Amino acid sequence: CSIIGYKGKQSAAPILVDSLKRMEYRGYDSVGVATFKDGDILVKKGTGKVAEVSKNLNIGAMSGMIGIGHTRWATHGGVTDSNAHPHSACKNNIAVVHNGIIENYKELKEELIKAGHVFSSETDSEVIAHLLEVHADKGIKGSLAATCKRLMGTFAFVAVFQDGTIAGARYEEPLIIGVANDGYFISSDVLGFLQYTDKAIFLDNYDIALIDGSKMEIFNFDGNPVAHPITQVAWEL
Ligand code: GLU
Repeated sequence: CSIIGYKGKQSAAPILVDSLKRMEYRGYDSVGVATFKDGDILVKKGTGKVAEVSKNLNIGAMSGMIGIGHTRWATHGGVTDSNAHPHSACKNNIAVVHNGIIENYKELKEELIKAGHVFSSETDSEVIAHLLEVHADKGIKGSLAATCKRLMGTFAFVAVFQDGTIAGARYEEPLIIGVANDGYFISSDVLGFLQYTDKAIFLDNYDIALIDGSKMEIFNFDGNPVAHPITQVAWEL
């Protein structure tokens, strides 16, 4: 339902929780955050409201200056802690949050299970994490493009990888980059980052954005670079 990613010079978890609260008006049933620090990805998630889940799991205290967060409005799979996002694949080196519906998830899941993958949720979204893992040998950029090409339906997803890279892709669900002085945001809604920056890049269908180190690049599902202007978002306090 709502997605927020952050990579910058501040502690990510408190920013992610604050952003998820600002997007609560959309409605949701579960909450989750993944942060990256020193090569490790830590995931905390559960059903309920942002304030209660973050308090119960002490999400604000998660360390790292890189992270992703999500509020879920369940479409596939019940409202359970394990169905909350982020989702990981078999190795604990990718975490993914997703908005939308992967229409062909059943056939993808069947194919992945045959190849030995073990799933830990009932969601359509989890196939994204496993596909990224399958294509990891193509590098992060290549794995994103290959994964997007397999997905049918609607999606905006954001992933954090084992080297601390954050990346997102979209098709028929919104995804927007926030450009701050000391970092980047990636969100389903400008309200996710407007309190930190009013400089935004609105991604188009078939765009993939990758935030690696302190730089950001945008390319399409074929791996070709895409150029978008930075827009100043008008808003009133
Ligand atoms: N289809 C996904 C799920 O049920 C994502 C739902 C959403 O957009 O929050 O987990």
